[in-house]
Amino acid sequence: MVYDIELACAGLVFMIVLFVFLRIQYDRKSESTLVLTKLLLFLIIADTVDIITCYTISFPNMVPVWLNYVLNILYFEFSVICISLFPKYIDKIIGRYKSSFYVVEKFNKYIIWSYAVICATTPFTHSIFYFDSEMKYTHGSLYLLIYLLPMYFMIYSLIELNQYKKHFRRRQFVSIIGFVLCAISGPVLQMTIPGNKIIDFFMLSLASFIAVIGLETPDFVRLQNTLEELELHKEMLENASRAKSDFLANMSHEIRTPINAILGMNELITRESNEDNILSYSSNISDSGTTLLGLINDILDFSKIEAGRMELALADYKLSVLIREVYHLLKMRFDAKGLAFEVSVNSDIPDNLYGDEVRIRQILVNILTNALKYTDSGSVKLDVSYEKTNDDSITLIFTSTDTGIGIKEENLSHLFESFKRIDMKHNRKREGTGLGLSITKSFIDMMEGHIDVTSEYGKGSVFTIKIPQLVNSEETIGEFEVSSAPVKKKKYVATFKAPNARILVVDDVMMNLIVFKGLLKQTQITIDTVTSGSDCLEKIKRTPYDIIFLDHMMPEMDGIETLKYMKFNKEHVNQDTPVIMLTANAIIGAKDEYLKAGFNNYISKPVKSSELEAMIKSYLPASKLED
Ligand code: ADP
Repeated sequence: MVYDIELACAGLVFMIVLFVFLRIQYDRKSESTLVLTKLLLFLIIADTVDIITCYTISFPNMVPVWLNYVLNILYFEFSVICISLFPKYIDKIIGRYKSSFYVVEKFNKYIIWSYAVICATTPFTHSIFYFDSEMKYTHGSLYLLIYLLPMYFMIYSLIELNQYKKHFRRRQFVSIIGFVLCAISGPVLQMTIPGNKIIDFFMLSLASFIAVIGLETPDFVRLQNTLEELELHKEMLENASRAKSDFLANMSHEIRTPINAILGMNELITRESNEDNILSYSSNISDSGTTLLGLINDILDFSKIEAGRMELALADYKLSVLIREVYHLLKMRFDAKGLAFEVSVNSDIPDNLYGDEVRIRQILVNILTNALKYTDSGSVKLDVSYEKTNDDSITLIFTSTDTGIGIKEENLSHLFESFKRIDMKHNRKREGTGLGLSITKSFIDMMEGHIDVTSEYGKGSVFTIKIPQLVNSEETIGEFEVSSAPVKKKKYVATFKAPNARILVVDDVMMNLIVFKGLLKQTQITIDTVTSGSDCLEKIKRTPYDIIFLDHMMPEMDGIETLKYMKFNKEHVNQDTPVIMLTANAIIGAKDEYLKAGFNNYISKPVKSSELEAMIKSYLPASKLED
């Protein structure tokens, strides 16, 4: 039998042209172009070997039988490579959208390798072909696999393509389908058309042509390259952003630790000194320390917002109490700067509300602190009013009006950008991070509220904030008054005494232990201190304590590990003693994690003396408390 190889030759020439075209067409090749080029190379080789074997089969005496076997096996093995490259090409086209198809892919690889082995061993098994006694080329029992396998892979690719079709533009999708159908029709026609024409390589050259003009055109390749680069950059940016948030959170933690010592020591000076000039120095330390703490808290808040870990804490609260607190917190600072600070409140506003009181207070303090910071003379006024939205909800409206330096029209749109400080020529001396308004806006957005700014440069600014809140009861705020007399700081007196109580404090920073003891001096509690987890475990063996305070970050054994050992090892006398986490880690969600780890409660550094006393009081047995 003599094979008709005209179409195979035409296909060969066509594929060589396409191969050369692909090689010279693009400087930068996408992954799919590389696979298609490779596929074309192997198709050219397989087609060439096929044409040669057509001769050696037709005229078997031309070459020795072993060479005929070798040539035919080579043809089958190159075909196997082509069969495996077809789905790989489709894979590269849809690759970026692909979820996992792992099991099937493994199975497919297994099929390909098995088939390659079957082809290689055919001289011994006669499974694919053999030469009979008259040297006639005869098909073996598994011969049809050469057609069935590519059909299987193409159908598999079609099913896969169907899943991802929404990702493709029309031209691309039609081209891929054309490519697959053309490739599939090669073996189908070869199998079904009688005669001895070699058709399949011609169809495969057509399939490759469709891929070149439909999928590997410069625009699509460029798009693919751009997408690949974008993906890479996106990943890099995400990593960088995560690293930044972690860095900010860690830094603020590290900075809070020494601030704890500074503010704590200063509190002790305030309590123990009666000299006016010392008290005035310590008051300055307290102001600057509190400002520094505010900045650190801003950075911490910012990193929490960035990392998506900021959550609202909703609860019942009284609006009148909130406004009064904000007023008293800031009044002294306005007085010190010689600015008038007025608060006017609509008497009809419902007083009992439900929302995140802490965040609203933070918003007001941010806005009013800015008004104070950016006003050199005149006044700042806070108006509080409301709009009723329905029976049980209102929109609170806070308006801060200042007679400060104002904001230029062109800067208004940049006000809420993170780390953006504007008009630096005039503002260099005013401390800030450029985070306050960005955090404020994030809080307002979280509460589905709105902030609006109008300003006249050189004259002053008006910030209007609207926040929806739920109403708990009809009771209104009434005539609202805040005493304008300067609030005098009262001399500290402990809220209770407990001379029979004994507590243990564990912290690796000596200074923190001194502050802790100093803050509780008036309570007369006996306070033992140790600087490591292992010392703590030693201490609790024989001495019973009423409360144990454990720092989190300690070298060697941290607070959480120490607690684990305490719970695990039963040979100590503090099985039921409450253990409280004492940490500079103020990240939202941290408290829950500590409670989950087995702590009874959590107190954050810098420790506020009033908070600390309240916490101790709640855990001490009543019999040990003396008012
Ligand atoms: P910071 O005050 O730390 O710089 P903010 O985010 O609170 O950062 O404010 C951003 C910028 O907006 C400030 O740098 C300041 O220029 C401007 N700004 C904010 N509030 C006022 C105000 N009441 N009057 C004038 N400028 C203001």
